[in-house]
Amino acid sequence: MTTLAAEIRYLHESHPQGTETYQIAPGILWARLPLPFRLNHVNVWLLRDADGWTLIDTGADTSEARAVWEALFAGPLADAPVNRLVATHGHTDHVGLAGWLTQRTGNVPFVSTLAEWMSAQVRLWDSQSKSAVDAAERYLTAHGCDTAALASYAADRERTNSLLGPMPPSFTRLRDGDTIRFGERDWEVIVAGGHALEHASFWCAEDRILIAGDQILSRISPMIGVFPAMPEADPLADYLDSLPRFKSLPADALVLPSHGLPFYGLHARADQLAHHHELRLDELARLMDEPRVAMELARSLFARAVAEGQGRLALAETLAHANYLVGRGRATRTKTADGRFLYSRAERPDSELLAAH
Ligand SMILES: [Zn+2]
Repeated sequence: MTTLAAEIRYLHESHPQGTETYQIAPGILWARLPLPFRLNHVNVWLLRDADGWTLIDTGADTSEARAVWEALFAGPLADAPVNRLVATHGHTDHVGLAGWLTQRTGNVPFVSTLAEWMSAQVRLWDSQSKSAVDAAERYLTAHGCDTAALASYAADRERTNSLLGPMPPSFTRLRDGDTIRFGERDWEVIVAGGHALEHASFWCAEDRILIAGDQILSRISPMIGVFPAMPEADPLADYLDSLPRFKSLPADALVLPSHGLPFYGLHARADQLAHHHELRLDELARLMDEPRVAMELARSLFARAVAEGQGRLALAETLAHANYLVGRGRATRTKTADGRFLYSRAERPDSELLAAH
């Protein structure tokens, strides 16, 4: 791992503070918005064309994030109008202020993939729907959560959803392979699954810059989770399938991630992320030596996150890995008489077989 880590090089060793911006390249500014989570910030990118600005991502709907935007409008963005708002994906920290920002800038077009525009709206609806809350409770119970966990996960979900403001009522659709022009550059749209359904990254071949969104992050691993609305999903397969696409880009690309610092070392980072998930899968398979409910597996696999109150996300990540193992015949899922799902290991993981030889 040391040799791989050495291949990651940061463009800056620090990040913009408060309402500061850093210039990444001519016409590309980096700003950082505060988030009220353990992951305490999200990066946004401001790109200048001759006739105005393109904004990429918004931050969550908090007064602190709005205040940073107001300072940006009064500062670096003051010299020209905003032409459009682009979203990498529909998670709260990326589109929480999308409705507010498009209005604030004069009803500019909102640009995103179809699934991400829709999924954010479904989540807004879902947070107010009794049937969705009941379904989530049944799901969590089946995976071994007790009533205290149910209450804390419901509160966590509500808190997160309260940071998602209304979405823009209309949008311009991005599709995989499209070319979009902003910041005086052409960008190829790379749509990938795993972290979100249709996450968009933007690749500028001429300047070798990748606006990566959450698909490739510099230090942390993007959240890959299975949630109550799609319990049989296999997002880890989608995520791992997306990595070769990013490895087909030049190794010396400058990567602009939505969290953490811009970096060089795209290939090494893609390999690290794949390796990270392989280790997780092996560890999870070992934990399934005894039939176990997913919440119990999550407590072993992500002990720290669970202890720090992130049990809901730890369970979602565990289920992503469990569904992947089940999908490949490495684990089985059975249902008990009282309706709980038990996961058992089906075979020894390949890496252990290799180690045994
Ligand atoms: Zn994010």
